[in-house]
Amino acid sequence: MIDTRKIQLNESIVIDTTVDIAMPKGFEATDTAVSVVGKLKNTGSNAFALDAMAECRLELACSLCLQPVAQRLSFHINENYAEAQDAADEDIAFSDYTIDIYPAVQRNLFLNIPMKPLCDDDCAGLCPQCGTNLNKTDCNCEGDIVNEQFRDLLQMFED
Ligand SMILES: [Zn+2]
Ligand SMILES: [Zn+2]
Repeated sequence: MIDTRKIQLNESIVIDTTVDIAMPKGFEATDTAVSVVGKLKNTGSNAFALDAMAECRLELACSLCLQPVAQRLSFHINENYAEAQDAADEDIAFSDYTIDIYPAVQRNLFLNIPMKPLCDDDCAGLCPQCGTNLNKTDCNCEGDIVNEQFRDLLQMFED
């Protein structure tokens, strides 16, 4: 919690902290420690601007083979704060001279989580028929479903 009365007009305070963000269901970890380094500036009329770099380590599942992938993630946080009665849509509202950066860190973390993480750019994925992890071993399935469907489609055109 930051007491905004300690920040003079047009002055900044240094933010150098770690925020434990609660993760949504489906993530390996229930909490992710995000280190946040930057500044919070008093931009006038009880408005403040947060400008920071954030970094964390995330445990994700590869979108092709489902194996865990540890990723370092770094992202920028740029948010404006305004007192509740003055806050515009894009502002984060605060009251009682108190700013909590948790919602800003959480929002920006979630925006920056990769949608399709990969364990490796060349990940071979899982066999669509038997589920074997093709990075580790081959399976005995013949061809794959996609090709078979494509072959059926070609035959339709040949008839
Ligand atoms: Zn993979
Ligand atoms: Zn298979």
